[in-house]
Amino acid sequence: MNSGTCLCGDITWAVDGDFSMLVNCHCSICRKVHGSAYATFAAAPIDTFRWTAGEEKIRMYKSSEQGKRPFCPRCGSSVAAIMGDIAFMPAGNLDGHIGRPVDSHIFVGSKADWFEITDNAQQIEAYPPDYDVPPTERAKRPPGTDGMVGGSCDCGKVSYEYAPPAQKMGICHCSRCRKARSAAFSTQVFVPIDSFRWISGEDNVDHYRVPDSRYFVSSFCSDCGSPAAKKFEDFSMVMLPAGSLDQDPGIRPQAHIYVASKAPWFDITDDLPQFNEMPPQ
Ligand SMILES: [Zn+2]
Ligand SMILES: [Zn+2]
Ligand SMILES: [Zn+2]
Repeated sequence: MNSGTCLCGDITWAVDGDFSMLVNCHCSICRKVHGSAYATFAAAPIDTFRWTAGEEKIRMYKSSEQGKRPFCPRCGSSVAAIMGDIAFMPAGNLDGHIGRPVDSHIFVGSKADWFEITDNAQQIEAYPPDYDVPPTERAKRPPGTDGMVGGSCDCGKVSYEYAPPAQKMGICHCSRCRKARSAAFSTQVFVPIDSFRWISGEDNVDHYRVPDSRYFVSSFCSDCGSPAAKKFEDFSMVMLPAGSLDQDPGIRPQAHIYVASKAPWFDITDDLPQFNEMPPQ
């Protein structure tokens, strides 16, 4: 049996049986809704899937004609989506081994400028060939004024921008990031607080603070669940989910952090430095 949970634990599910598919989706909607380089979904037949808590709490965001993006309204995690007779589960929220390698990267045609695919999984331009669904993509917000780099949630209510250059960009494998982003890892861009401003929707951002953590806060659009920028006044810094960015941030991931707690089903295949926890300051 495998089980999944949102970051706060309100919504949980279980799967009895094997996963039928494991796929990385690079589409513009997944990048916004998960805030990371891509989303990873594990699929299983509906008759092996069951909710174990909180199904009634799920908030549904309709991302397109066919697309629905269920999320936890308390912590912002994506949760399992039932489409026809298949349950699609964000792999970042699964607790155990998935028991199969990644089948493919899909929507590689719309992948982030700042992310390079370095593993050997098959790469498919959009949907796999046997999918009879028209692809939906999100139009990018136009570039900000004066070379600003903008970011926004998938529904568009929340938006912000910063004046480059950014300070740092990192890939975090900690279990909180994986659950909050519902992804294999989170990818964050850090910018100085005075280079950042909200354009819209700051009051549409909800925050969930992990009870036993000093700093871990999941900040997300309350309408669509997309991760949003988060100010850290103590550090005079703003953390931006890289998947939310509408322009090239002009910086690339510099390191993998919290590698000691990475997902058991995820292999790091690039050459970036790896740190078991935080890099030494
Ligand atoms: Zn939750
Ligand atoms: Zn997608
Ligand atoms: Zn939104």
